[in-house]
Amino acid sequence: MKLASRVNQVKPSLTLIIDSKAKAMKAEGIDVCSFSAGEPDFDTPIHIKEAAKKALDEGKTRYGPAAGEPKLRAAIANKLKKDNGLEYKPENVIVTNGGKHSLYNLIMALIEAGDEVIIPSPYWLSYPEMVTLAGGKSVIVPTTIDNGYKITPEQLKGAITERTKLFVLNSPSNPTGMVYTADEIEILARIVVENDILVVSDEIYEKILYDGVQHRTIGSFGPEIFARTIISNGFAKSYSMTGWRVGYAAGPEELIKAMIKIQGHSTSNVCTFAQYGAIAALESSQECIEIMLSAFTERRKYILERVRAIPGLNCPTPDGAFYVFINIEEIGLKSIDFCEKLLLAQKVAAIPGIAFGADECIRLSYATGLETIEKGLERLEKFVASL
Ligand SMILES: *Cc1c(COP(=O)(O)O)cnc(C)c1O
Repeated sequence: MKLASRVNQVKPSLTLIIDSKAKAMKAEGIDVCSFSAGEPDFDTPIHIKEAAKKALDEGKTRYGPAAGEPKLRAAIANKLKKDNGLEYKPENVIVTNGGKHSLYNLIMALIEAGDEVIIPSPYWLSYPEMVTLAGGKSVIVPTTIDNGYKITPEQLKGAITERTKLFVLNSPSNPTGMVYTADEIEILARIVVENDILVVSDEIYEKILYDGVQHRTIGSFGPEIFARTIISNGFAKSYSMTGWRVGYAAGPEELIKAMIKIQGHSTSNVCTFAQYGAIAALESSQECIEIMLSAFTERRKYILERVRAIPGLNCPTPDGAFYVFINIEEIGLKSIDFCEKLLLAQKVAAIPGIAFGADECIRLSYATGLETIEKGLERLEKFVASL
């Protein structure tokens, strides 16, 4: 069979490969400690599930508008105003099949052959693949551990060319957990405006922050940057709703309309009753987030202490999300070798940094119970000592 050439231009998701290897080992009865999951280990809060069940019983089982239920678009616009200080109308919002799909729709609506997209590395692995699928070119800008894995103003300026259309900003970041300060964001915003490019701000982890660190959205630094910003967000991480597939984008109406058009010919509306769960998530008490956050906080403290006690491993403090991004340079193994050996020898699943464009690192997710974390870190310690 001759498949379309675009299939060979993208790589399968390495995260999913390691995850499925670990799951297969578990199915064989092997006691695997998995740090590979990119999703909270909590069940969706009950009031959100109840709202979706009620919607089902009320017959919210039919096609809806491709752009999303009007009530949800309004609730999202309201959230963006209340939480982020952004003045969007419901028409500026599209509801998508997860945050991933809002990014995909955006890239499809915006990027074509000849266009460049600036992506700081380490990056979330789907960004460059989406750009490739759209025929565009990713301009990867490597950040360093010394700069806290943040792109510097000089780096951003240096990466912009006549062909640059979009800059991808992800704070809090997956995989590094770093969070840009308001001052840092403001300087990046100025560069975006001066060069008249667009920025997409992937804010899926905006609620998962530690030690009093604040999230500030780039679109909030004045009308000029606001007009050049697209927000991408979703319910998966904040409300433990990964399988529900509800996310959204907000931005200039012309662009959102283009994304709706594309969505109208591909997936159409997001599952109607799932959208009612999302409405409940936004309109009810936000206490459920605090409960998850306190568990993450405890695990993060523990995992950082243990990892830092292992000679040869270096780990900056993540300010957000639920990952530690560990530098393994001193060990002298490539990230895939490290992770394969770790899985075989000690039955611990971690994600090789090369998946995120950083071969000198590995990613551990602490979206898993403390018991697994304790056991897994003992094994990691043994593994590193054996090298
Ligand atoms: C999880 C994740 C998303 C989107 O996830 P969905 O399940 O599609 O909502 C987007 N960006 C980053 C960085 C993520 O980690």
